[in-house]
Amino acid sequence: MAKTLDCLIIGGGPAGLTAAIYLARFHLSVAVADDGNSRARQIPCTHNQAGFPDGIAGVDLLNRMRDHALKYGASLIGARVDGLAVSAAGFEARGRESIACARTVLLATGVTNRRPEISEATHAEALREGRLRYCPVCDGFEVTDQNVAVIGRGPRALTECTFLRSFTVRITLIIEEDSAMAAQDIDRARALGIAIVRGYPSDFALGSTGIHVTVGQRRMTFDTVYPALGSEIHSELAGALGADLTDEGCIKVDAHQRTSIRGLYAAGDVVVGLDQISHAMGEAGVAATTIRNDLAAAAPILR
Ligand SMILES: Cc1cc2nc3c(=O)[nH]c(=O)nc-3n(C[C@H](O)[C@H](O)[C@H](O)COP(=O)(O)OP(=O)(O)OC[C@H]3O[C@@H](n4cnc5c(N)ncnc54)[C@H](O)[C@@H]3O)c2cc1C
Repeated sequence: MAKTLDCLIIGGGPAGLTAAIYLARFHLSVAVADDGNSRARQIPCTHNQAGFPDGIAGVDLLNRMRDHALKYGASLIGARVDGLAVSAAGFEARGRESIACARTVLLATGVTNRRPEISEATHAEALREGRLRYCPVCDGFEVTDQNVAVIGRGPRALTECTFLRSFTVRITLIIEEDSAMAAQDIDRARALGIAIVRGYPSDFALGSTGIHVTVGQRRMTFDTVYPALGSEIHSELAGALGADLTDEGCIKVDAHQRTSIRGLYAAGDVVVGLDQISHAMGEAGVAATTIRNDLAAAAPILR
């Protein structure tokens, strides 16, 4: 196995790549192991990323960030890390084979949105055309005055509808028959003019006038559908090491992005936060600087 890195970053989305840029520019040895499923890859064009007033596609942003990290000497490893163990040097990461030894590890493994029942091809096309969206904070502006549906269960979906209500008055909440909804939530939805349709959404299809979906006996058409079905949180590696997690499964960190395991840090969507690129980048900058300072406290970093 190659020499022990100062830091191994697991996850090459906006958080992991930002940290790689910082750490490489601190003259530290850093590698990013990534299996290529950044949520940012799904963004057809983000319009809330500062510095890009005309928007930028998620793939293009990631390519720029990878080039930026490589320019300063970070290494990129296209591999999935399946196991992380504490070792004499710090940590050892394993995938199909041994990946790296490192004095510190930053987990930037993100989350994956749960999808409604929709084919891969239709899902991809609907995302591209803005008929399916996952993030009202990101793109609520783009659905201003449109006819929007939110698919979800329980109070989370109503919260998303309420958030979207400041962008459009035409909102339908599609909620499964057996999903409990408190009387006061139903009253709140009514007061906000949010229509409630009960049933399982299926048969999604794209048409010239929008996205079609069947709910019970009804075929409905919307400009955009927002699934609000929660996320799979990729905190298994931290959990296996015994790091503290929230009830939902996010990695708990202190104000400097340290987990409860010495030498293990976390940033981005996998930590409780806004689940936005700007937030992932900000946490990564803090994490990278903390890692540098913690390493320097153990052994001075001298030129
Ligand atoms: C459709 C859509 C539109 C969005 N639009 C916007 C927007 O306009 N503006 C905005 O700010 N945000 C937007 N977001 C949210 C944004 O994409 C995320 O907040 C951001 O990507 C989080 O960055 P991250 O680095 O924490 O995680 P991610 O970008 O998800 O990166 C995590 C990386 O870790 C890798 N990984 C996970 N586990 C392992 C492992 N064990 N081994 C190796 N690699 C691993 C994954 O493959 C992935 O590449 C959008 C999200 C979606 C889905």
